Amino acid sequence: MKQNYCLFTKTALAPSLQGCYFTACFVLILSLGIGCNFTTVGNVGNTIIKELGDVNIFTDAEELRFGREYVAQHEQKVRIHRDPVVTNYVNDLGQSLVRHSKRPNITYTFKVVETKGINAYAIPGGFIYVHLDLIRAAKNESELAAVLGHEIGHIVGQHSMKRLTQVYSIEIIKQLILDEDASKFKKLVADVLAAGLLFRYSRDHERESDFYGVQNVYDASIAPEGAAGFFETLSATRRTAPSAVGKFLSTHPMPNERVLNVRNQISKLPPKSGLRTDSSRFQRIKQRIR
Ligand SMILES: [Zn+2]
Repeated sequence: MKQNYCLFTKTALAPSLQGCYFTACFVLILSLGIGCNFTTVGNVGNTIIKELGDVNIFTDAEELRFGREYVAQHEQKVRIHRDPVVTNYVNDLGQSLVRHSKRPNITYTFKVVETKGINAYAIPGGFIYVHLDLIRAAKNESELAAVLGHEIGHIVGQHSMKRLTQVYSIEIIKQLILDEDASKFKKLVADVLAAGLLFRYSRDHERESDFYGVQNVYDASIAPEGAAGFFETLSATRRTAPSAVGKFLSTHPMPNERVLNVRNQISKLPPKSGLRTDSSRFQRIKQRIR
């Protein structure tokens, strides 16, 4: 099975922990004794994107409990950027996308971290982190919005919770989340964090997040071309400062298929006036963190 990464994820996954989207469905069939109701949510290029129709693996409360514990442990390992001018801007932009997302009914939190390198990631429960270096690299607001939209897409698709289910099985995760013994739950989260498991998305999950992200940005009246633009930014950064794009781009070719899919999806969106590519606020933030 082919190994895949989130757009901005850098480290490799042990083969035993790799899987694909359809394996999650198979686990569900075995675990719940129910069939998968695949629903077509988008047609990107030659690829039909599918999702687990009406099967809800975890309640929002269970996902949030997992996410909060993960965040508590994660934030002991990273430096959170505390400049409210920057963090309020990123949160405002993120919330403007959330309102148009396919999962607007949970609370989302956007934070900026000072870890080196171009990166962004989503933690279950609605916690999204962006590196300062990614904001520095984005040429305009629509590129940053595209990244946030992609990460929101992982939350919408509950991709990390599905990933956990692949590895641990639904019964184990449910039991540990609900168990009275908090130490076992903390240990599970610590293990997941140490393995970097949450961000090892399947190719289908990446496609799905790209699809959700482009649509989300467009629905929020931001130019969706930022998604393709950010792929170009990554490519250019790889040439000028390869260390900044980390192991992901140094060890893997540029995801041309994803660029083509995104461009294809954009070309099929109906014309819409007033789509915003940039803002003076974004450029002021860029100046501030330069
Ligand atoms: Zn991703």
